[in-house]
Amino acid sequence: MIPFNRPPYTGNEDQFVTAAMRSAKMSGDGDFTIRCQTWFEAKLSCKKALLTPSCTQALEMAALLVGIEPGDEVIMPSYTFVSTANAFVLRGAKIVFVDVRPDTMNIDESLIEAAITAKTKVIVPVHYAGVACEMDVIMDIAARHKLYVIEDAAQGMMSTYKGRPLGTIGHFGAYSFHETKNYTSGGEGGLLLINEETFVSRAEIIREKGTNRSQFWRGMVDKYTWVDIGSSYLPSELQAAYLYGQLTVADEINVDRLNTWNEYYKAFGDLSAKIELPFVPQGCQHNAHMFYLKLDGLESRTKFIAGLKESNVMSVFHYVPLHSSPCGKVFGRMHASDKFTTRESEKLVRLPIWYGMQNKEREQVIQSVLTVLDRI
Ligand SMILES: *Cc1c(COP(=O)(O)O)cnc(C)c1O
Repeated sequence: MIPFNRPPYTGNEDQFVTAAMRSAKMSGDGDFTIRCQTWFEAKLSCKKALLTPSCTQALEMAALLVGIEPGDEVIMPSYTFVSTANAFVLRGAKIVFVDVRPDTMNIDESLIEAAITAKTKVIVPVHYAGVACEMDVIMDIAARHKLYVIEDAAQGMMSTYKGRPLGTIGHFGAYSFHETKNYTSGGEGGLLLINEETFVSRAEIIREKGTNRSQFWRGMVDKYTWVDIGSSYLPSELQAAYLYGQLTVADEINVDRLNTWNEYYKAFGDLSAKIELPFVPQGCQHNAHMFYLKLDGLESRTKFIAGLKESNVMSVFHYVPLHSSPCGKVFGRMHASDKFTTRESEKLVRLPIWYGMQNKEREQVIQSVLTVLDRI
């Protein structure tokens, strides 16, 4: 049986997790958290990187930091994970969903401007499959309308847009280290990137339950106290240690995934009459987070997934568009028309890909896909 995903594990994690277990401090902001954050700040050249227990929580922190108030509007694609929307809905925002581009499944940047109203506060581009949104256009719109940009880069670690790491282009970027992503901090984890100095000290306070404990540890204040709203957005040192083990071989993980992705692309390249393959625009370097195919509609996709399952290959589809979900109807609205979101989402199927995938596993997937496509 070929599973859809295996959580990344390199063997490097053990020594660091053991060290964290034996250290005198396992709670947040210990040695491994600092080591990871320093690694990200250097690798991504961002102002501040703060580990969080999940990407969901990194997005929640960003929503707090930009000061979302009830009635504010937030623009995002409907084709995304619920957390992209929930983080803002929790603060009382209304979500304005914008259609996706069928080639990348990213928000259609040409439709954003018309969705802006006097209440709009934030644009949230989601870099689907680790392939960048058209950030130059989005940043230009945001600057002209004085909006914040919070990049949902959950899937985008190691990807770049015109040479710039995803998550470092907007005001904030959020990454995920869930076990289905390219790097994991032991199943769950996340990271908030803060790209403007002005937000850093408040971010540390919000993350520490609304206290100035970080300043206290640095000797900047002589006692710590409740100074703002906040929550607990600190991961355990065990999570950070696990992640650190993967960061020490970050490039190896990336290259391995890209190899599998390229093998798939080569094997399916000639089938363009039957399926659509992922598209990576010029100037975007992707991270092989996902390999998807698009069939010609829901019916073929259902048959395709069932056919693969019969040959012991697990494949999955993705997001039911948020604007047609029960909660999305209450907290959001679709701007203009849903020309591509629903139609394209019903075509898409994700193939197994993970770090350390064996040649024979890859071959089994390729052969099964070719056989099943022949039949449907
Ligand atoms: C995985 C994912 C999230 C949520 O990440 P968690 O770490 O599980 O909270 C948010 N947005 C997108 C686009 C994702 O793919």
